[in-house]
Amino acid sequence: MRVVIFGPPGAGKGTQAEWLTTHLSVPHLSTGEMLREVIAKGTAVGRAAQSYIDDGKLVPNDLVIQIVDDRLKEDDCRAGFLLDGFPRTLAQAETLNKLLDAHSEALDMVIDLAVPNEILNKRLLDRGRTDDAEDVIQKRFEVFQAETKPLLEHYDSRGLLRSVDGTGTRDEVRQRIRQLIDQHASANND
Ligand code: AMP
Repeated sequence: MRVVIFGPPGAGKGTQAEWLTTHLSVPHLSTGEMLREVIAKGTAVGRAAQSYIDDGKLVPNDLVIQIVDDRLKEDDCRAGFLLDGFPRTLAQAETLNKLLDAHSEALDMVIDLAVPNEILNKRLLDRGRTDDAEDVIQKRFEVFQAETKPLLEHYDSRGLLRSVDGTGTRDEVRQRIRQLIDQHASANND
């Protein structure tokens, strides 16, 4: 299956992706993780990306798309993948379509984790990553609203969007996602 896990910062994308990637037997492609890795390695791409992440801004498309393109070309992605944190802009969504088209592939579903802002704020402050300081969180919410949220409409109009209540415990959200995946599997008879 080719799945995007979508949602605002703090919605639980990474947490749910952890079990979902095993459940689906597909690689977990988190652009945030991949960017943090290249930053830790001190590569040129990492150095270019660092200040954007620290400021809560989106890393420029060309850098992110290059990373995703390289990863999607690898053999383990042919049977499917779980994208987490990508696409985050309409331009990225369009690029993703083209990259998949080149392999005659298409997304199966976009799972949107819906969580009210007050809960998001609290979750992020509890998490304590370096880009989880209060002013940076604020910026990341603004970026989400302005640039990423329009993707909901984009994927809804293509019939790919599945919204899940992302409140409650990790296991409660997991059950809701499980149900969606099982429904999809039985509808596709596989
Ligand atoms: P995440 O781990 O998904 O919360 O991403 C952490 C940070 O990495 C974001 O706040 C962005 O600065 C950057 N980032 C991750 N994915 C993308 C993307 N698809 N496009 C641009 N920037 C990204």
